[in-house]
Amino acid sequence: MRIGIDLGGTKIEGITIDADGAVRLRRRVPSPRDNYQHTLTAVVDLVRAIEREAGERGTVGVGIPGTISSATGLVKNANSTWLIGEPLGEDLPRLLERPVRFANDANCFALSEAVDGAAAGADVVFGVIIGTGTGGGVVVNRRVVEGANGIAGEWGHNSLPWPRDGEWPGPPCYCGRTGCIETFLSGPGLTRDYVASGGPRLDAREIAARACAGDAVASAALARYEERMARALAGVINVVDPGVIVLGGGLSNIDRLYDSVPKLWAPFVFSDTVTTRLVRAAHGDSSGVRGAAWLWD
Ligand SMILES: [Zn+2]
Repeated sequence: MRIGIDLGGTKIEGITIDADGAVRLRRRVPSPRDNYQHTLTAVVDLVRAIEREAGERGTVGVGIPGTISSATGLVKNANSTWLIGEPLGEDLPRLLERPVRFANDANCFALSEAVDGAAAGADVVFGVIIGTGTGGGVVVNRRVVEGANGIAGEWGHNSLPWPRDGEWPGPPCYCGRTGCIETFLSGPGLTRDYVASGGPRLDAREIAARACAGDAVASAALARYEERMARALAGVINVVDPGVIVLGGGLSNIDRLYDSVPKLWAPFVFSDTVTTRLVRAAHGDSSGVRGAAWLWD
């Protein structure tokens, strides 16, 4: 039995998944915010409760907001800040008395979609979560590529490639640099661009709806957004050449991206033909917890 745990900022979710991808059992508990010890207890209790109900012991994979540093074994880059610097990779296996696999939430997302989601069957998959930020993950032959530094797929803090007038040096990013892909492609990035061109302060969903309804300023902002996404993804295609790129997160609900972006990326891909497909995630919000379960394949 495979158990997947998604350690989120507001809730901790646990599932068991069958070999055919069916979820047999699902449980959620609120995240004990700002308390590492209580978080550990909550995860251990959740796994034990699932195993009691299922009547068997399982493998445990955990999706976390951040990475476990291979250098120190401690959590880093987590937006659930109470986990940062804690030895989660040591404590959970000890408390659960078994090895535990960890991956960051974008990697879990990519794995879930690669195993039995929108990218099923593709050898190389790039998964992107675009919402308040822009996370990414690379999966090759149903295995997450972690990388030597645990940051494979983190394209959001590369600079936007082939910058046009007005895009360089670009907006400041929280990472300390300017012009990062995330500052253009995140939801707040789209809003900033729309406001700068004279639009009211709306979120990405509302801007997309206005563009759909024929609003010229929103339409132009969305067109710039699509062309930037095309350049940013062309940079990924030129490095890992995925068969499928899967989009998740709030902005993946903008329908026209799937048609427009692949038409726009061709001039930037170093190939006469581009067969890479751009698709919307199949598992929605469940991808993180499903991918955590699939960490044991
Ligand atoms: Zn950045």
